[in-house]
Amino acid sequence: MNVIIAGGGQAGFQVASSLRQGGYRGGIVLVAEENRVPYQRPPLSKAYLKEDMGFDRLELRPESFYAAQSIELRLGETVARIDRGAGTVVLGSGESLAFDHLVLATGARNRVLPIPGADLAGVHLLRSAEDAEGLRGALRTARRMVIVGGGFIGLEVAASARAKGVAVTVLEAADRLMGRVVSPAISAFFLAAHRDMGTDVHFGAKVVGIRGDGRVAAVATETGTHEADLVLMAAGVIPNDELAASAGLPTASGVIVDATMTTEDPRIFAIGDCAVFESRHAAGRVRLESVQNAVDQAKCVAARILGGTIPYDSLPWFWSDQGPYKLQIVGITSGADHVHVVHVPGEDRLIAYCFAAERLLGIETVNRPGDHMAGRRLLSSELRLSRAEIEHGDFDLRAHIAALTRA
Ligand SMILES: Cc1cc2nc3c(=O)[nH]c(=O)nc-3n(C[C@H](O)[C@H](O)[C@H](O)COP(=O)(O)OP(=O)(O)OC[C@H]3O[C@@H](n4cnc5c(N)ncnc54)[C@H](O)[C@@H]3O)c2cc1C
Repeated sequence: MNVIIAGGGQAGFQVASSLRQGGYRGGIVLVAEENRVPYQRPPLSKAYLKEDMGFDRLELRPESFYAAQSIELRLGETVARIDRGAGTVVLGSGESLAFDHLVLATGARNRVLPIPGADLAGVHLLRSAEDAEGLRGALRTARRMVIVGGGFIGLEVAASARAKGVAVTVLEAADRLMGRVVSPAISAFFLAAHRDMGTDVHFGAKVVGIRGDGRVAAVATETGTHEADLVLMAAGVIPNDELAASAGLPTASGVIVDATMTTEDPRIFAIGDCAVFESRHAAGRVRLESVQNAVDQAKCVAARILGGTIPYDSLPWFWSDQGPYKLQIVGITSGADHVHVVHVPGEDRLIAYCFAAERLLGIETVNRPGDHMAGRRLLSSELRLSRAEIEHGDFDLRAHIAALTRA
């Protein structure tokens, strides 16, 4: 039996590692486009932008792990094509490998805005360790940075750049920060926080071009120009689903999978940032970009290859560190129609309970890790809390969960 894994990121690594942990004895080949052992990406927009963190601290396991576990690592190699009829993949080098199971863990790539000047020197993207090393180098001499996109990554980098004394402008096309994924209360909290850190934030800012003579000098929007010697384009990602699509597998901004992360072909799975699935935690199909999602889906597929059929049902949770603020989200809160916010003005902590009608969809917290963990216990259990209980003046989430679990 042979498992081929396309993609050596968080999800690809985890499926290989969980297969061996679960006693899988067949061949495992991990085909990884980047010429580096699998590593974690979250620090790339945070700690790794500081000067003192080496790549070894990003590695999920040292290189010796793969040989010890008989996991064949093909670094700097791609899966170029799937031949479903023959049951093989064709690598970029032309070599063919037979599979019994194929796991697509190809992640996503940055969306590059189709505007003039996007290829000027000084315009950066951030997805890989190599990108982060380039950005870290540029931040050493930058004086004025423009970040296109006020999502998690743009804002994490904004906080890191401000800590280095670089002047930062964030240009966001929508009318609030992180608008696709958090409630308006969290957007407002972080707007104030970033402005306090000295970041200039503009909304409704549609970027139309980047100007400069060989090197970036300014970013133009429909309504104005912002000087810059460094630009980060952080305007979202595109899932790498072309491999599946060209093999005739259904895609919809990601590879479509069923509840066991299986594509239409029972031998082929998709997990992590490239997979689209039905989640009972969301209203319909979702594609999630988080470590939790990549790791838990990988474990689900490993269990399936080992003979299990447990559907993927993990509770989604996310985090984002922006300067001194830790944002944590449990559940998918984007469909909320009512948000109950507990925040004492001036405090650097906040909790927001997000409801759709009477149902608690999720909980967003800032600098309240204990409440985040209590929220995870609540939402992954059968325990139920009504809006009236939560909105009662004395409500304390941690005390309430402790009492309920004792009862
Ligand atoms: C800067 C940054 C900060 C982040 N911060 C957080 C955070 O704070 N919290 C959080 O939960 N999540 C965070 N994330 C998201 C998280 O890192 C991703 O959700 C996670 O890495 C997804 O894992 P994956 O394996 O699906 O994809 P990836 O980690 O992207 O790995 C996919 C790999 O597949 C390779 N590949 C693509 N096509 C092929 C092919 N045909 N053949 C071979 N290889 C291929 C790619 O080069 C890539 O190396 C962050 C992401 C970034 C970029």
